[in-house]
Amino acid sequence: MTSAARKVPFTTTNAGIPVESDEHSLTIGPDGPILLQDHYTIEKMAQFNRERVPERVVHAKGSGAYGHFTVTNDVSQFTKADVFQPGRTTDMLARFSTVAGEMGSPDTWRDPRGFALKFYTQQGNYDLVGNNTPVFFVRDTIKFQDFIRSQKRHPRTGLRSNDMQWDFWTLSPESAHQVTWLMGDRGIPKTYRHMNGYSSHTYMWINGGGEKFWVKYHFKTDQGIAFLTQEEADELAGSDADKHRRDLYEAIEARNAPSWTLKVQIMPFEDAADYRFNPFDLTKVWPHGDYPLIEVGRMTLDKNPEDHFVHIEQAAFEPSNLVPGIGPSPDKMLLGRLFSYPDTHRYRIGPNYTQLPPNRPRVEVRSYAKDGPMRYEPANVSAPYAPNSAGGPAADSERYRPASWHTEAGEIVREAYSLHREDDDWGQPGTMVREVLDGPARERLASNISGHLAQGVTPPVLQRAFEYWRNVDKNLGDRIAAKFNGA
Ligand code: NDP
Repeated sequence: MTSAARKVPFTTTNAGIPVESDEHSLTIGPDGPILLQDHYTIEKMAQFNRERVPERVVHAKGSGAYGHFTVTNDVSQFTKADVFQPGRTTDMLARFSTVAGEMGSPDTWRDPRGFALKFYTQQGNYDLVGNNTPVFFVRDTIKFQDFIRSQKRHPRTGLRSNDMQWDFWTLSPESAHQVTWLMGDRGIPKTYRHMNGYSSHTYMWINGGGEKFWVKYHFKTDQGIAFLTQEEADELAGSDADKHRRDLYEAIEARNAPSWTLKVQIMPFEDAADYRFNPFDLTKVWPHGDYPLIEVGRMTLDKNPEDHFVHIEQAAFEPSNLVPGIGPSPDKMLLGRLFSYPDTHRYRIGPNYTQLPPNRPRVEVRSYAKDGPMRYEPANVSAPYAPNSAGGPAADSERYRPASWHTEAGEIVREAYSLHREDDDWGQPGTMVREVLDGPARERLASNISGHLAQGVTPPVLQRAFEYWRNVDKNLGDRIAAKFNGA
């Protein structure tokens, strides 16, 4: 049936030329060979063959939405960042994801969840690329690739391997805090709407007077925390593998816009030197009793993307997008990510990825970047270099200073962080097990761990795993071993 008969617009080629048929290729007679001049059929085949970009090596499966962030409390004494000034509302994009699974993996596998945010601020894009956990498995970026490979697929079998996971974890005791989280209730959120987000890293805030602070972000879900048991999650992995994507999309379509309240912990700059924990170690939290939460504002997600690939698959978040008033900290994981994220985007979606719709700043871009694949924004044509005498942009180095910290010039070394009074790998997870979890949550933790160990973990990794948990908490370790042995 023709477009006129169906009362729809007529199809065109990608060049906008009217197409003769949606259904029949151009052939010599109805049974004849297909002709090379059938440009449209060839264009369809060629476009299809190129439909995928490489999936993200981590956080491959994600879902997201647009929304806005509104400041509800005056924190201008701590930061001059435009996005956090009183009264400000800023458009934003969020992407939630699993970490180790591939693009088609079930949403309900036990895994941390990515919590990546992009704020389209008046000072350029500010990205906060966090997780639903306040800590991480490793504290030095040199171990990240090893960690991820231990969670992905075994090179020989092509299968995920619990043995590999526990081998890496038990040889990396700094993982204990995050593994306690992962194996507990929060390791499988009920939906993306029912989980918190954390910066995890420590960042620097700088106020209008140039005063510096250390900051950690906590996005508390306004929907309340809710989780799935292992059994519920296993069932959903088979019956509705896209459960969390569906939930987020449908909630927003139904105008049930999810929201999160942003709170921060602020540490005076000078406290870092002798705080009881190394404040830049990503495997540690700052106990709330030491640095209480201060409200900042609310993020609301109320607009589904009109095209998932364009806006979510091509979304490129990078912790290196820091705006005036916000800087990095000496967290070695953060410092590694500042390089790694933009690097992976250049590979995955091309060097001009900042021109794609989800990544375009909402302010004028006056960089000296030019050319490269798929470039469509004109460069600075008057003079493609700086400095120049053709009236091109010049950096305002009086107004914009580096967010720096003082370092004692020391020897160049490969060493762990300097140890603070209470720094050890078992203390904080032990506190969590004994003081944060109640009895039933501890029992579920022990069941989840013994169940996970029962799936292919072999000696000597198994014995190391029991010891690992006894180091976190003696009773917990004994309980896991007893459950594993059928008690
Ligand atoms: P608090 O008692 O002040 O805080 C404990 C926090 O633990 C809660 O605020 C909650 O964080 C979180 N929590 C509650 N139940 C669970 C659970 N089942 N799984 C994971 N987290 C849960 O104690 P401290 O600040 O002294 O921290 C003690 C331990 O709590 C830490 O070692 C850490 O494991 C965990 N924790 C600490 C956080 C921090 O920034 N201090 C943040 C989150 C967890 P929330 O309110 O963010 O939901």
